[in-house]
Amino acid sequence: MKRVRFAPSPTGSLHVGNALSAVANREFGDWLLLRIDDTDPARNVAGGEEELLRDLEWLGLEWDEGPVRQSGRRERHLEAAAQLGERFDGTTLVREDGTPTYHLASVVDDVDFGITHVIRGNDHRPNEAIHRRLFEALGASPPEFVHHGLILGEDGKKLSKRAEGATVASLREAGIPAEAARSYLEELGLPKHDVHYDLPRIRRLAIEAIGAMSDDELAERAGAPAALVPALRGARDLNEARDYARSILEPDPVDLPEASRPTLERFAELLGANAEAHALIRELKAVGGDLKTVRLALTGRERGPELWAVVQALSREEALRRAQRSLPQR
Ligand code: GLU
Repeated sequence: MKRVRFAPSPTGSLHVGNALSAVANREFGDWLLLRIDDTDPARNVAGGEEELLRDLEWLGLEWDEGPVRQSGRRERHLEAAAQLGERFDGTTLVREDGTPTYHLASVVDDVDFGITHVIRGNDHRPNEAIHRRLFEALGASPPEFVHHGLILGEDGKKLSKRAEGATVASLREAGIPAEAARSYLEELGLPKHDVHYDLPRIRRLAIEAIGAMSDDELAERAGAPAALVPALRGARDLNEARDYARSILEPDPVDLPEASRPTLERFAELLGANAEAHALIRELKAVGGDLKTVRLALTGRERGPELWAVVQALSREEALRRAQRSLPQR
């Protein structure tokens, strides 16, 4: 049985590189411990743990034990330090203020929780040697260490937390469906070398994820009534879907010029004749109607969902009302 752990520090929303470690551990391990590495008070951020738990839940990541906070295991860490000394092989194990360092706490916890595989980013490769020696000094056999490549930004350096889409929270806020973010991380797997962050790939996966959603699911996740779903289908992310829904449900009123009247009168006639939405748009176009005018009248915008789907989503009365109110009153 492969026993693994994901051990983030509670520094706020997860960086996608950390999320990669989380997903890689979940995919690889049979049993996963979620450990909160809060040994360095200077790095702890208020609310940081809640944020990262929310991110993991959003990604659909489940763990088998935890969250275990390292701060709650201080006694045990110091007991181990008493056995090893405050410094070991030139490495500080206990700070001057008496708190255990990352190296001490991490290895003691890995021993106590029977971790068999440590899977983490390349940036921790330099820690492998000292960690191995600490395992041995504690009378335990070292686990297997797997260090995966980091996610890099455009500048070729570790992706900055401020870069676009660099945190799990920023992907969620951008309306990326969770399954698209998760698929991207699963596709990366355990990269041997560093990889460049591919936000366009995540955006393509978001389009696929929306395509795979049932009508009910899409309506629910966009917070829109089911009747609007055909209009939401062209959205590339959930924010765009919400925005499409808003443009149909609560359009900004527009004032169109007199020149728009012939198109909108023709539109009203076709509505009156109860034409089916696709046929109506086709017919309107065939007689030289200006579709942009209709779109503006119905949604208050120049761009948005497919026009037939907007027409289909509205009652005949509502469509007529919008067409009328956008024209100059005479
Ligand atoms: N808290 C460390 C980090 O987030 C954990 C490293 C490890 O997995 O040992 O980088």
